[in-house]
Amino acid sequence: MSNSFLNPVTTQTWANGRHIVRCVKVIQETWDVRTFCFMADQPILFFFKPGQFVTLELEIDGVPIMRSYTISSSPSVPYSFSVTIKRVPGGKVSNWLHDTLHEGQELAVHGPVGLFNAMDFTAPKVLYLSGGVGITPVMSMARWFYDTNGNVDMVFIHSARSPKDIIYHRELEHMASRIELPEPQNA
Ligand SMILES: Cc1cc2nc3c(=O)[nH]c(=O)nc-3n(C[C@H](O)[C@H](O)[C@H](O)COP(=O)(O)OP(=O)(O)OC[C@H]3O[C@@H](n4cnc5c(N)ncnc54)[C@H](O)[C@@H]3O)c2cc1C
Repeated sequence: MSNSFLNPVTTQTWANGRHIVRCVKVIQETWDVRTFCFMADQPILFFFKPGQFVTLELEIDGVPIMRSYTISSSPSVPYSFSVTIKRVPGGKVSNWLHDTLHEGQELAVHGPVGLFNAMDFTAPKVLYLSGGVGITPVMSMARWFYDTNGNVDMVFIHSARSPKDIIYHRELEHMASRIELPEPQNA
């Protein structure tokens, strides 16, 4: 897909409903977690509240099936949105997405919806606690505050089974390296 036609002044914005989107990128985050990035052929600015989710409408072996996934990207990067999906042993949709969904493929999504978000509930200090792939809503919130220089005192504690299971590891370290206050210097 060429981005040469993107024009933020005239681009439509996303509203809750059913939309056809195209997978534009697949990122292997860890050995069993992938991020799938989507855009619309007719450009849309995907505005949503960090923490909200979409529901994918799929057909697997001729059977319609739907599953909800939190949007892991931030609306500060609005031409696309991403979901980050962990393979669930024996799971129908998560494994199908890992094995089948590729760049260029179209699918229908419903949303965005969800009350668990960083905009309807604001606070000057936030504590984010997540485990495994449960990191997705708080990652969207953290990305949003980071990208918009949000005046929020944020502590982000994430639990993973092992270092190789830490989703967004390098990105979180990069973010931290650019917002942590420097140690005070002794004069
Ligand atoms: C609001 C919301 C947000 C979410 N966000 C994310 C996200 O960001 N990332 C993410 O990875 N997931 C997320 N999920 C979870 C996601 O929706 C799916 O539940 C998950 O991907 C598993 O779906 P599946 O089809 O692969 O598994 P399923 O086919 O639903 O199976 C789930 C488990 O049940 C077992 N099972 C299935 N049928 C039977 C049966 N008949 N008897 C016994 N056991 C059975 C399977 O073996 C498997 O272990 C979210 C869910 C919600 C509701």
